[in-house]
Amino acid sequence: MNHGATCYLNSVLQVLFMTEDFREAVNRNSNTKFIDHHLKDLFDRLKKETSDTSKILKVLDINTVNQQQDAAEYCQKILKLTSPEAAKIFHAELTNRRFCSSCETETDTDESFWILPLSLVDSSNEVYSVEDGIKEFFKESYFTGEDQMYCEHCDTKVDARTKYVVKHHPEVLILLLKRFDFSYRYMKYVKINDRVDVATTLKIPENQTYELYAVVDHVGDLRSGHYTSRIRSQVDERWYEFNDTWVTQVRHQNLCFFSQMII
Ligand SMILES: [Zn+2]
Repeated sequence: MNHGATCYLNSVLQVLFMTEDFREAVNRNSNTKFIDHHLKDLFDRLKKETSDTSKILKVLDINTVNQQQDAAEYCQKILKLTSPEAAKIFHAELTNRRFCSSCETETDTDESFWILPLSLVDSSNEVYSVEDGIKEFFKESYFTGEDQMYCEHCDTKVDARTKYVVKHHPEVLILLLKRFDFSYRYMKYVKINDRVDVATTLKIPENQTYELYAVVDHVGDLRSGHYTSRIRSQVDERWYEFNDTWVTQVRHQNLCFFSQMII
């Protein structure tokens, strides 16, 4: 059921429902400190019929149901309120490695994430691909001139380079294709409508392969858009479309869910 414009939430909940390991994990957890029991109730009902999401809306503190929210933002919100045992399926760790060009000291800072944000680079000539986004994310960045970084050992600003290294690969990798971006040209948030190729198998450093099993799509523009989802069932391996109303417009991928492949 769509309470006003809560399709962003429905799409995310449908993907979480279809993620078997997650569904089983929330079933096991009865600690009412977390929202697992609300999700369990909802998932139990979803198995039988279309369900009301008002309880979940309440725990997520969503009152302004007519305001379009970002699916990624609410996906993170749900995982934050879920027990660590259930949420760990999506949990990943990155190391931000900084290298000082003067004293050659390496400094590591660890960061946790549930959703990896990929910027859509200008693709006026070619079609943007998720693989390019991954390459861009994991490439080395250089900081020189005005962008120099402070080094504790040198006690001054120095030339530096940084890169991300995966410390812990998540069981399920969620990628956010950043279609909503701030445009300095128009001084407002715009939606990037370029075509993006999403590969069904994806490799991220170092050599971990993932397989696409769900996509949350966005149709329309920033203010009046609509979210839907496409999910491959883990039971019969077929793709299904989940949509709270029928939409025939062109779809744009927003969130992509990849499960780890053991090769
Ligand atoms: Zn240094």
